[in-house]
Amino acid sequence: MAQPIGSAPHLLSLASLHDMLAQAKADFTSCCEHSQSLALQILPQARQHAEPKLLSETLHLLGRCEQVLQQTSEALLHLQEASQLAAPDTLGNILELMARCHADQQDASLAMQFWGKALQAAQPFDDRECFVQCFLGVGNLYFQHEHFNEALYYQSQAVDWAELSADADLQAQSQLHLAATLIKCQQFDLAEQLLFRTEDQLQLPARLSWLAEVNHYLGQLYQARGDDLRAEVFFQAAHDINQHTAYHWGQTQSLLSLGRLKIQQGASDAAEQLLTQALALAETHESNQQRLQIHRELSALYEQRGDFIRATMHHIGYHEYYQQQIRQHTRQNLAALSSRRLRQAEIKLRLLRSELEIRQLRQQRHQEQERLERLETAAYRDALTGVYNRRALDEQLPQLIQQLAEQNLPLCLLMIDFDHFKQVNDHYSHQIGDVVLQTGMQLLQAMIRDTDILARFGGEEFVLALPKIHAGQAMQIAERMRRKIADYPWNEVAAGLKVTISLGCAQWHQGMRPAELIQHADLGLYAAKNGGRNRVCLHEDRP
Ligand code: GH3
Ligand code: MG
Ligand code: MG
Repeated sequence: MAQPIGSAPHLLSLASLHDMLAQAKADFTSCCEHSQSLALQILPQARQHAEPKLLSETLHLLGRCEQVLQQTSEALLHLQEASQLAAPDTLGNILELMARCHADQQDASLAMQFWGKALQAAQPFDDRECFVQCFLGVGNLYFQHEHFNEALYYQSQAVDWAELSADADLQAQSQLHLAATLIKCQQFDLAEQLLFRTEDQLQLPARLSWLAEVNHYLGQLYQARGDDLRAEVFFQAAHDINQHTAYHWGQTQSLLSLGRLKIQQGASDAAEQLLTQALALAETHESNQQRLQIHRELSALYEQRGDFIRATMHHIGYHEYYQQQIRQHTRQNLAALSSRRLRQAEIKLRLLRSELEIRQLRQQRHQEQERLERLETAAYRDALTGVYNRRALDEQLPQLIQQLAEQNLPLCLLMIDFDHFKQVNDHYSHQIGDVVLQTGMQLLQAMIRDTDILARFGGEEFVLALPKIHAGQAMQIAERMRRKIADYPWNEVAAGLKVTISLGCAQWHQGMRPAELIQHADLGLYAAKNGGRNRVCLHEDRP
């Protein structure tokens, strides 16, 4: 609560000030003014406590609010002070906000410098959100100056980083900016895809205003393609959302677009109505650009109707704003062109940019690697037991054989089959049968080397390929495995449960095809089963 005028505010505890600050931060998105007024109440108290964290965070929040509310000079003062007290990991964000303030003040060169500084400050912390904001800022700057190629470049950097950040909100924001530029570059298909993807990622209702933008851009896109019907639907949708959220600038923009669409269709009365409505709305907020455009459309419309008095009136309106616009543009261009600083800042930025690009590639490669591993898991692993599947075996065994043959190294193959497994299923249930297969494979997997290949051959039969192993060693390994399974306390899985396996072993010899090797191991298994099960048999292929 605000203190009544005249009474000295009594000093609140640090804890309650931190609580207030948390509240103020939480209110930022929904009600910036409220957030600001809370921050203003905290500020003098934070100064008295002189705790750097509280003070810098309060100043930072205040700067954020003031930037949004277009009180840029105040914002810059507060942010400057915050930057001197801030923890290193928040410095990037503060500098990025300062860059935005400079851009709002039409100082492109200073803005660029601050975005460069912000990138540099954020780099050690891999602060992707900050990277995204910086690239978006620079991209938008180029967009405003109608350098669409540069804008495309920076905005796609923002999209890439947003993707790496896995923050849906950030992704939606950067895609939206990129889509606007793509439309300017007449890349309609790409823009369309991007906009639909953005729509899916929007967090509603918090981001209703972005939904309005998505609809607006889709309207523009369909209009450019000559699909007036769809264009109207989307402009109307944008209008309705902007009206609902009382966003006058956006609503004016939608009315202007709808008006232009009607002019294009020759529906002069409807156009007049929409544009007049747009003009009335434009008077309620500061936008010369919009007023100028509406006056121009109306002037042309009345001229066509032969209503020259009205046409002249709107022409005068148009001309007035046009003059203002020209003056403002000249100032902007002078600010941008008159100093070499812009170019210097850009060079710095380019260096940082390539450094970040390398890092980005590395991270993308890392993600790609993980994706491949996931794919490999899905394609080459048996879902139940996690060992390789038949497909993996079919692909890997011939390769393994070839490699070992070239180096003249031995290879053995074990064929492993669970004994009387049908009875396990029948007596205990299929689920218990599954647990037996899983547990059995876990036990065997723990006994093998990285270079061995354990694969499910089918049903309850498994294959183990043992590179660089002779038959004698392979038989020892097989025997250890047999015992491991037989000795496991299966009782704990189900009362009375007993599990054993039989194993057939075969050694590879020069000229033997993979299928023959498997067949020989299978013959060994057959012998083990015939010999009474729960045993190991070597198939000797030389009579
Ligand atoms: P033998 O000792 O001769 O190998 O007898 P067996 O019962 O193990 O052999 P048979 O081939 O007659 O039966 C194999 C059984 O394994 C039949 C099948 O239902 C079962 N089976 C195959 N795959 C799975 C599985 O994924 N889960 C379970 N629970 N059972 C399976
Ligand atoms: Mg069996
Ligand atoms: Mg079997």
